[in-house]
Amino acid sequence: MRLVIFGPQGAGKGTQGSLISEEWGIPAISTGDIFRWSIAQGTDLGGDVKVYVDNGDLVPDRLTVRLVRDRLAQEDTASGWLLDGFPRNIGQAEALDRLSADLDASLDAALLLEVPEDVSLHRILGRRVCSSCGRNYHVDVPPKEDSVCDACGGEVVERSDDNDKEAIRKRLRTYYDETAPLADFYEEHGLLRRIDGKGSPGAIFERIKRDLKRVSHR
Ligand code: AMP
Repeated sequence: MRLVIFGPQGAGKGTQGSLISEEWGIPAISTGDIFRWSIAQGTDLGGDVKVYVDNGDLVPDRLTVRLVRDRLAQEDTASGWLLDGFPRNIGQAEALDRLSADLDASLDAALLLEVPEDVSLHRILGRRVCSSCGRNYHVDVPPKEDSVCDACGGEVVERSDDNDKEAIRKRLRTYYDETAPLADFYEEHGLLRRIDGKGSPGAIFERIKRDLKRVSHR
């Protein structure tokens, strides 16, 4: 199964991405997680992208597309993949089309998680993330032990780009200007699946599973 998942910040892409990854046994590849990890580790890529991520701007396509190309060439993607946070604009979607053709691995579906803006803001403002494995939490649904990840024991923290209200507004604006047009793009390709992103993570995941049962692999 090869999927992309998109939707506004706080729609639950990371949470659903982990659930999909477990259910279908495919890696969930989040470009945002890779960028944050690279910044934290002080890698060359981290140095190149830090200013964009901190300001809530998109990282230039040439860096992002190269990152995805390298990641999709790794062995664990043989049975499929889920891309979370990529593509972010039409140029990246076209690059993914070319990449998929090169790898002879075409996309099965593009999931759009739809949530109203007040829900996405509430989720972003309360969001917490494991600094080690990237698992997502929320102040309303914290880990069992304060600040300790249930999955790996890593430290659960607030994302640095989630505590700056101006950067959050900019990221949402960028989503509606640049990423939302992907709905028409994937509709035209016959790949778009709209998923209602309101409600609990479990309820949303049931909708996704029901929907993906109807998707045929190519
Ligand atoms: P996310 O975790 O998906 O919200 O991404 C966090 C930040 O990483 C974004 O605000 C961008 O600065 C950067 N980023 C992640 N994915 C992409 C992408 N596909 N294209 C450009 N920038 C990205």
